[in-house]
Amino acid sequence: MQIFEDHDFIKHATIVLNYLHNGVACLEINPDNSLKLIYVNQVITKMVGKDFDDLFDLYQDNVLDMLYPADQSRFYNDLISHRTNMEYFRGTYRFQTVQNTTTWALGHFQFLKQRGKDVCIILLTNVNDFISAQIKVEEDYDNMWQHILNNIPIGTAIISKEADKYSIIALNDPLKTFANHVGEMIDGTKRDWNKENLSILLNQSIYTFCLNEDIPLVEKALTDCLSEPTSETTFRLAGSTESNPIYIHIKCSSNIFSPTKTFYYILFTEVTKEVLTEQELQANQLLLTRLSYYDNLTGFKNRNAYSEFTDNAKFDSNHSVGIAFLDANGLKETNDKLGHAYGDRMLQQLANIVKEYVDYTNVYRISGDEFVILEPDADKDAFISKILTVRRALIKNDNIASLGFTWEKDMTNLKQSIGSAEQAMYMEKHKYYASTAASNSKHRPRLLRNLLYNLENGRYVMYLQPKCDTDSYIATGAEALVRFIDKDGSILPPYEFIPQLEREKLIPKIDYFILEEACKYLETLKAKNITDFVVSVNMSRISFEELNFTEDVKDICSKYDFNRNQLEFELTETYKTIDSMRLNTFLKRIKALGISISLDDVGTDYSSLTMLIMDEIDVIKIDRSLITQINGRPAQILLKNIITTAHELGLKVIAEGVETDEVRLLLKDLGCDQYQGYLMSPPIPVEEFNQRFMRHYTE
Ligand code: C2E
Ligand code: MG
Ligand code: MG
Repeated sequence: MQIFEDHDFIKHATIVLNYLHNGVACLEINPDNSLKLIYVNQVITKMVGKDFDDLFDLYQDNVLDMLYPADQSRFYNDLISHRTNMEYFRGTYRFQTVQNTTTWALGHFQFLKQRGKDVCIILLTNVNDFISAQIKVEEDYDNMWQHILNNIPIGTAIISKEADKYSIIALNDPLKTFANHVGEMIDGTKRDWNKENLSILLNQSIYTFCLNEDIPLVEKALTDCLSEPTSETTFRLAGSTESNPIYIHIKCSSNIFSPTKTFYYILFTEVTKEVLTEQELQANQLLLTRLSYYDNLTGFKNRNAYSEFTDNAKFDSNHSVGIAFLDANGLKETNDKLGHAYGDRMLQQLANIVKEYVDYTNVYRISGDEFVILEPDADKDAFISKILTVRRALIKNDNIASLGFTWEKDMTNLKQSIGSAEQAMYMEKHKYYASTAASNSKHRPRLLRNLLYNLENGRYVMYLQPKCDTDSYIATGAEALVRFIDKDGSILPPYEFIPQLEREKLIPKIDYFILEEACKYLETLKAKNITDFVVSVNMSRISFEELNFTEDVKDICSKYDFNRNQLEFELTETYKTIDSMRLNTFLKRIKALGISISLDDVGTDYSSLTMLIMDEIDVIKIDRSLITQINGRPAQILLKNIITTAHELGLKVIAEGVETDEVRLLLKDLGCDQYQGYLMSPPIPVEEFNQRFMRHYTE
């Protein structure tokens, strides 16, 4: 047989064999890392239960098959990695035995070069024999196992399993200390277990210390370590509660001693803190995910989630989608008037209404007061009927939000479809405002309802503030300014209510009201034959953009008999945001009615100056903020230039906020035509105005 060719080697191996009575094997390692068995001694042939020839037939080229399957790759990897430097190593591996059980063997691996080839001589010590011999001999706890175990600083037990019955072979002192410690953790009672009573408890049931629900985890670990080198699991200690769980980690390894008997080696560690930290981390992770996708206030998804959905659904043509766009009515007003907490409650109320009919995971809050419902794979009829129900519910609840919707058979143009739903929502809002303004519908938003009520009940009134030429104290005109008379008779200035009305697009109601009051007043002047006194009315940009603005103005004016050239509209610089072509057309129509136009608050915004070049402007009103600085040279230079420019353009100039005679005189010197301000009077009720400023006309 080829394997006996190398006489030196056999001699060497035989000496080792005779001397040690241990298993000896010799492997050749080829350049491609394949293995070839070239020698085994009788200890090994006995262990495998085959004679030399059979053994070599079977294993010469498949040497790894001699090992227990779970240990084969570890054995091979260890061998190849140490071969690189030809360095000695030790390792313990399980081998298949003749009885078809496994046996643990400790191997000493020594590499040699033999005739240019890499050879490894392996000396094997059967650790199983050693174990069984020890167990047989020593029944008491002072045995060697105890000694070895006690040198392990971690709680360790050796357990045997025979005919499905587990018995404690040995446990170490650290395990005893450990058991007393975790026992006390469970209920605060000190334990004084020694190894004997612990063994008795464990012999009754190996799961004595395991919470019933977690027994399967331990069973699995004990099974897994039969096929894997080690297995591990974490279970809760018996007596653990939700509020006081104690987690135990075990690491197991096994050794099949005979077809009927297996040994388990188990290491115990208490890991409660680690598990709880891990659980907390996971919970935080969950919470973070929730926070990053959900809106805290309403429980709906947030803009983040919305962007993710809309981006990903871009090309999805396999799914239909139902879309609704909601916009809370009057949220800003509520926030301003009643505070943010109240506004929040309003949004929650809105959310609750929607949640009654729609799965909240399909609703997104995409801005402070806007919501989008996206229902993938929605059936058209079912979706529409559901959304109409939502709309009815919203209307019933004080018309808390306006809603527009659409249904699309695929999601290819999701963003565009959402745009259509949004457009439909705006139509609803508009239609709604238009209809509620004309009717007495109880579904009007509260602000509009209050506004109309207060207008009807004379709570809004027109005040007049005189305008005079800079060289006199005689009023030649007046600005009409709105005031609100509160329940207690106190007078609210416009800044307390106008911004809100502007935001809710309700300011036209006020403007039309003051316009009508001004017309009425001009009619009384005509009756008195006063034909050169001009009354100006502030006209908000929002009013200007009303659908039928010029028609409305015409209708109001035609109700009264007065000279149209005694009426003036004051426009603020916010008009500059209107497209200039459109603005021009509108201004022309106003001018066509005979009404003159003044540009208010000039000097507050540089760009308002560009409006000066519009043909339709007749007057510019310089803002109070510039007038208050009139004593400084820069303001004077600026004023002088504005006035000169205006005059060159054929415009009249009036200064606001003139509080002293000194300012009046300075303005006069600068060439300003008129002034308005507390020097003459603040805005006052019409009757008082007539008393103080109109008497000279009639006297
Ligand atoms: P405005 O059109 O620039 O009106 C001039 C404001 O300056 C008035 O305040 C007036 O009371 C104030 N004022 C006049 N002379 C003096 C003065 O010598 N010293 C001081 N400190 N203030 C003076 P008011 O009545 O509170 O109106 C504020 C703004 O509210 C107005 O500014 C106007 O933009 C707006 N407003 C008032 N009535 C209406 C209205 O009927 N419709 C619209 N759209 N806006 C209005
Ligand atoms: Mg004004
Ligand atoms: Mg002004």
